[in-house]
Amino acid sequence: MRMDDYQALCELETTPQALEATVSYLAARMKPFLQTLEPVLICYPDDGPASLGGIFKEAVIRCQAAPVFWGPDYRWKELLRIAFDTHANTVIGHPLVILGLTKLVKATATPLYFYDAILCGDPFAHWIVDDVKKGLDCRVWGCYAVRSGPVIAGFSCEQDAGIHIRADVFLPDVPDQKTEARYGSKRGKLYFQSAKDPQVVFDPMEEVLLHHQPCSCGCNEPRVIETCSLREENLSRELLEDRFLAWSSVLDYHAQKTEFGMALELVVFPGESLPKVPSAAKLKVRPWNPEEDIPFCMHRYALKIPEKIHEKG
Ligand SMILES: [Zn+2]
Repeated sequence: MRMDDYQALCELETTPQALEATVSYLAARMKPFLQTLEPVLICYPDDGPASLGGIFKEAVIRCQAAPVFWGPDYRWKELLRIAFDTHANTVIGHPLVILGLTKLVKATATPLYFYDAILCGDPFAHWIVDDVKKGLDCRVWGCYAVRSGPVIAGFSCEQDAGIHIRADVFLPDVPDQKTEARYGSKRGKLYFQSAKDPQVVFDPMEEVLLHHQPCSCGCNEPRVIETCSLREENLSRELLEDRFLAWSSVLDYHAQKTEFGMALELVVFPGESLPKVPSAAKLKVRPWNPEEDIPFCMHRYALKIPEKIHEKG
């Protein structure tokens, strides 16, 4: 048995047939709330067939809604402008991008028109869902994209009872459960076995409560709730997210390990109170620069930054 084989998993899930299954899966999940021709803002830089942006674009078109994209200018400022100008009713993106958008709405008093937000990535803290729900005054759905890549592992239960795991992609299990099964549920470290190749096992480094019994929403796919990351880098990431990003005054932050210890950069809205920062860390606090700032989490997508931003800098 091969463990934590993300590469093998991606190969299995990015064949034309698997991508087609992913598009129809997402279309089926979004169909109940997407209206015909409604503008849907997709916050990913890429729209190739095996990218998150491309998969969502196809699924949105299949629901007869109208995808709009953020870019090629990926500044926060531009995100807010496109959301406002297009009157998008649904937004899909990385949880931290949508959280940032929520803060921009408050800081700039810009009215947006969202009914639904789909936060798409590895499992994320529940306070992010609550903040987005409150800040954008809309419904919030979670889409489980493994490592924020093109493998879509599941989608929020319609009745808010966790994330249903796609049966055609994964057979989830908790082989060494910590506690007794209660109502058929198991708590412990989660493993995903590929439904297409049992030799491929993926370790999401999560501790969860896994339910196999049918859900009250009518879906029979297993669901995970109460996810808790076991990955050390995620633990510190989540700790920092909780400590800084939970503040509405902090638009974005970046942490980097250097030879002198942890270096933190906070991008803030001036004039508001700020969180306390650990004294061991080197710190740079600076105001949001609308002419330049791009979400830190977007840099992983190898953005092509438009020339005009550099010129202005
Ligand atoms: Zn359900």
